[in-house]
Amino acid sequence: MEKTALKGLSREEAAALLGSWGEPRYRAAQLYTWLYRRLARSYAEMTDLPAELRARLADKTELNAVTVTRREFSQATGTVKLLFSLRDGQAVEGVLMRYRNWFSACISSQAGCRMGCRFCASTLGGLARNLEAAEMVDEVVALAREARAQGGRVRSVVLMGTGEPLDNYEAVLHFIHLIAQPEGLGIGYRHISLSTCGLVPGIRRLAREGLPLTLSVSLHAPTDELRSRLMPVNRRYALPELLAACREYAALTGRRVTFEYALIAGVNDSARQARALAQLVGGLSAHVNLIPLNPVAERGLARPDRRRITAFAAILRARGVPTTVRRELGTDISAACGQLRHRVLGEEGRA
Ligand code: SAH
Repeated sequence: MEKTALKGLSREEAAALLGSWGEPRYRAAQLYTWLYRRLARSYAEMTDLPAELRARLADKTELNAVTVTRREFSQATGTVKLLFSLRDGQAVEGVLMRYRNWFSACISSQAGCRMGCRFCASTLGGLARNLEAAEMVDEVVALAREARAQGGRVRSVVLMGTGEPLDNYEAVLHFIHLIAQPEGLGIGYRHISLSTCGLVPGIRRLAREGLPLTLSVSLHAPTDELRSRLMPVNRRYALPELLAACREYAALTGRRVTFEYALIAGVNDSARQARALAQLVGGLSAHVNLIPLNPVAERGLARPDRRRITAFAAILRARGVPTTVRRELGTDISAACGQLRHRVLGEEGRA
């Protein structure tokens, strides 16, 4: 029989499972403390649980849904990139980013991706499969151990690794509820960001969940013509429809939407395009996050130079659009979307 993935269970579900084995109620609290406060790696560590219970847990449940198979660490920035292997041999990656005295965990929601964005490494091999909630929770747990090793805690989680979270809606929502539990990792909904390439029905559905999540929308182009070339999803959901969904999200949740815009030299970085972008998002009380492109060798695209990036940001700001340029933490360790996974898959392919 297949084992139950422990990290896919809510506190209530864990209590129900242990209860069905005749265990007292406080056992679930003990177990949860081991999982999410002490970040235990094995049942053997859980010394305040009776040995028979530990044996039964080992027999019936799976403690670790992911295994770390590679680790890259940037001394300079404190960024850690982990490659996880899943039980069926699939691989995904997660990144820990350090800010002053707290950490943000960036995790993957799918092994591969089927959205086909032209500049992205994650989609090169297509979609292998959706991740389960337990696997996503375990990615955060593994990154939380890395944060602990650096003397801190994970305070925010971003769904910006490999995959399109709204293409794996149910599991992602379940994951979000699991990590938000105060008895679990306790990541507040406001500290969870979901990034989407623009699956409009998913955005509208998310707006109705009544959760104060941060929504990031990958825009990358100010016109339908260019966006459809860069992002095939735009042929299904064009800009007017996408922006309407964003407006609705902001209205229903009271949260300001963030637009991601990866600057690609000679493609979407001109002054005219900056003005068009300002015009497009102007009425939306939105925030624009400019990401200098992480060049992906297979894609033949480059990032603009620093001056051009600054000029682009200045045009947006002059038109009243709050704009930030993403701090780069990962280029020295191939932390750009899908790059480590892609490199490793490539190496294995050649081996
Ligand atoms: N599928 C989701 C989330 C994953 S990617 C989405 O599309 O939003 C997180 C962000 O990185 C997205 O904005 C994505 O478009 C961007 N991105 C992908 N490849 C990139 C690259 N090579 N350089 C810079 N940003 C990239």
